[in-house]
Amino acid sequence: MAKKTIKDVDLKDKKVLVRVDFNVPLKDGVITNDNRIVAALPTIKYVIENGGKAILFSHLGRVKTEEDKAGKSLKPVAERLGELLGKPVTFVPETRGTELETAVNNMKDGDVLVFENTRFEDIDGKKESGNDAELGKYWASLGDVFVNDAFGTAHRAHASNVGIASTGIPTVAGFLMEKEIKFVGEAVTAPKRPFVAILGGAKVSDKIGVIENLISKADKILIGGGMTYTFYKAKGMNIGNSLVEEDKVALAKELIEKAGDKLILPIDSITAAEFSNDVPTEEHTGDVPDGQMGLDIGPETIALFAQALEGAKTVVWNGPMGVFEMSNFAKGTIGVCEAIANLADATTIIGGGDSAAAAIQLGFADKFTHISTGGGASLELLEGKELPGLAAINDK
Ligand code: ADP
Ligand code: MG
Repeated sequence: MAKKTIKDVDLKDKKVLVRVDFNVPLKDGVITNDNRIVAALPTIKYVIENGGKAILFSHLGRVKTEEDKAGKSLKPVAERLGELLGKPVTFVPETRGTELETAVNNMKDGDVLVFENTRFEDIDGKKESGNDAELGKYWASLGDVFVNDAFGTAHRAHASNVGIASTGIPTVAGFLMEKEIKFVGEAVTAPKRPFVAILGGAKVSDKIGVIENLISKADKILIGGGMTYTFYKAKGMNIGNSLVEEDKVALAKELIEKAGDKLILPIDSITAAEFSNDVPTEEHTGDVPDGQMGLDIGPETIALFAQALEGAKTVVWNGPMGVFEMSNFAKGTIGVCEAIANLADATTIIGGGDSAAAAIQLGFADKFTHISTGGGASLELLEGKELPGLAAINDK
């Protein structure tokens, strides 16, 4: 179902509540990476350029106790936002109360206000994370329209997304949210074919839902990463000391049978005696010998995967092909990035925190159509689940 976006509502003279994702990394009160603030700018600018009053809020880190609040204020974020926008941004150091209400009521069209970390409401009874109805209602009462632009929390029903929307206030998607729905959502609901999914990462258990959902949707599923060896074990192969989830071997067997030749497993591995970049590596076709562990896909597999990707029109990639953090085991992930980069005319999507980090770190970020910003949220979307934060946005 198509969702309403910020372009479908009138913002002039309106108090526009915007749930952004300002969950940035902070060290000693200093922002170490402002990507998420930069990513929120199109929506914020659109609100102020169209005569709205932008009331922004977000969670930042985990806050369970009074002590957790230290270093989790959104104040430095509001300051950085002011620099990026080139205009003053009002920061209100509370999540409710007269100071906030007065500041909101004094706003003029085009003004920007940020209020304090929504999770400060979790100290006294998990009001934000527990989607406390009274809190959602209170925040909704501060505005006329609600724009949800925080995809990263869309898989959670919190007061600052679902709670506000449930009050019946007009609720629309911001530009970031719209992009995620378009690329990640459409890849699994209406992909251009052939549709190839590449799944890797450490564990089968993290990706069961994704594999199961994509078995019926994708034309091919390429498996790499640590989960390879649970599949190898299911096939009765030797895996040495490779990562394995014994309790998932039976499931892997089932998946192999269900998927038939859609499922393509690695044919060779780069192995080592230890989980380390400082020991010699070996290359093995098929079985991993005793004393060795598989830490990356090998060159024959890279070629096999590149061939399987030829002609693909939609590619979803979730999970690195090896321990890319160590240079000895990064070649598989690089190889797959290269194969995807070489595709003409394909929509290519990365969904997954570490896969996104890998593509960025290895220099392939601009080769993909879309890199999802929400690890958990994109995973659940790929699993075919309904995300509460998305469901709460008004349909077109
Ligand atoms: P994503 O965040 O993209 O969903 P995951 O969190 O599932 O990805 O997996 C990423 C991790 O998997 C990386 O830290 C990587 O080092 C690890 N990994 C990949 N291949 C292997 C392997 N063969 N053995 C052990 N760990 C692996
Ligand atoms: Mg991860």
